[in-house]
Amino acid sequence: MPLPIEYPWHDALWRGLTARRERLPHALLLQGPRGLGKAALAARLARALLCLQPAADGEACGACKSCRLFASGTHPDFVKLLPAEEGKAILVDQIRALGGFFYLRPHTAARKIAMITPAEAMNLNAANSLLKVLEEPPLGSVLLLVSSQPASLPVTVRSRCSRLDFAVPPRELTLRWFAGLADKPAQAELYLELAGGAPLLALALAEAGFLEQRERLLEDLDKLSTGADTPLACAARWKQWEAERCLSWLLGFAADVIKLAMLAAAHRKSGGGAGGLSLANPDARDRLQAMAERLNLSQMFGFFDIVSQARKLLSGPLDELLLLEDVLIRWSRLSRP
Ligand SMILES: [Zn+2]
Repeated sequence: MPLPIEYPWHDALWRGLTARRERLPHALLLQGPRGLGKAALAARLARALLCLQPAADGEACGACKSCRLFASGTHPDFVKLLPAEEGKAILVDQIRALGGFFYLRPHTAARKIAMITPAEAMNLNAANSLLKVLEEPPLGSVLLLVSSQPASLPVTVRSRCSRLDFAVPPRELTLRWFAGLADKPAQAELYLELAGGAPLLALALAEAGFLEQRERLLEDLDKLSTGADTPLACAARWKQWEAERCLSWLLGFAADVIKLAMLAAAHRKSGGGAGGLSLANPDARDRLQAMAERLNLSQMFGFFDIVSQARKLLSGPLDELLLLEDVLIRWSRLSRP
């Protein structure tokens, strides 16, 4: 496992955590938008809590036996639960194994720590199984749940965790951080807007060359509107471009079109006032405006719901390709003149 990285926008959260190091709740839910490094902070906390000689500021020493085990990914008192396959569910057997892990006494450190990321990937059986650990926490156990969709977690799980809220950092801080990177992202400001201000998401989008990819997504939407291509062919391409990323973008796109259509309707009524509008695709405003003018607003609201639902279902057992096909069939129906 690579060493967790420290990010400047975690400073205040980190200070708060280390100040209560000795009286941390046994279950923490680290929640907030994607791309803020929540899992990195959870790993940093786990490493520090397991360290045998932590520094005065609460940071792990990086040199003790525990830190070395942690860095090599073989710490016997730490477990990280992920879906077996990216985008799929965390299953009940994985959570049941946690019971056995916590049942044994700590090996090297003074406590045992489990991290579940993304926690919303737990299916219902897995979440129910976790309740047992949450209700009767073994002494010295710490459970770190990481989630960018905490509303998808059962209330029974959420209510038993202490929340740690992550917020999008100020733009200036992120841009300064980008500027200090050895491999600075080109068009950093635009990528930051596309990522809703989340630094690590912006970086991932920049590394993937998402602006070019977005161009192809927009072209595909145009082709579906004119009948120049079929939803099935587009869906097959979108699957290769990573379904989650495509659907997240499509959600922002639908929200932009809705905002622009509502603004246009308000103009027709009041006859003035441009108003500042915060868009997910600010640089593509003219193209989106043209779409907003010809699409039916109530159908667009319906489409937004469908995309949102499809994105949630991605983590379930349904086939990604079918979900994409369904979404694109709806788009082609609603956007055909
Ligand atoms: Zn150490």
